[in-house]
Amino acid sequence: MDRVEFAYAVKGFMPRDEGAALFEAAMSAPPGALMEIGSYCGRSTVLLGEAAGRRKERAFTIDHHLGSEEHQPGEGYHDPDLLDPDTGRPNTLPALLITIDQASLSETVTILCGYSATFAALWTHELAFLFIDGGHGRPSAHADLDGWTPHLTSGGILAIHDVFPDPRDGGRPPFEIYSKAKASGAFTDISGIGSLRVLRKS
Ligand code: SAH
Ligand code: MG
Repeated sequence: MDRVEFAYAVKGFMPRDEGAALFEAAMSAPPGALMEIGSYCGRSTVLLGEAAGRRKERAFTIDHHLGSEEHQPGEGYHDPDLLDPDTGRPNTLPALLITIDQASLSETVTILCGYSATFAALWTHELAFLFIDGGHGRPSAHADLDGWTPHLTSGGILAIHDVFPDPRDGGRPPFEIYSKAKASGAFTDISGIGSLRVLRKS
């Protein structure tokens, strides 16, 4: 199985058409590091790792691994197989480590475990590509846009997942930050498929 095929065998929320567009977006970025917010079990991470490997760049992926609101017990996207028996809460870090090891991406992809906003505040390295797919609540989504886009180089690529222009299709915050990025005047649309939006920073 090649790496791209392997990605879709990993648990996750990235359909094939959007995953292909995400990979193309990563390949189209200027030289430099790739950053993902929201690793979960590593499906999109493997796609970005494949792109980083081909480009001889590094990829980073951030998650606190405690799950988003919709992953908690009783919520719509809860997966009982990802519950930690000791804490009774989701824990996706073991699954991510296994995914990255099985994909032979441990040297290309660096796993960062913690809150996105904490890393964003401390980060100093310029990014060529940024994928926002972390918390979809209003504070997290806006913190991801506000905290990470300053680290994106001029000409860098911003991809945002779960952007639903019609509120009947899904939650508002990813659409809000997509709109905010464009309203800032610093980003222009490159492409969009499903709920994935790809923009370039001017
Ligand atoms: N990109 C993944 C899906 C990510 S799901 C895929 O392709 O399958 C969203 C993830 O964001 C969850 O794993 C959740 O734990 C994480 N997350 C939510 N809020 C976060 C925050 N504030 N900081 C870090 N990670 C967060
Ligand atoms: Mg998503």
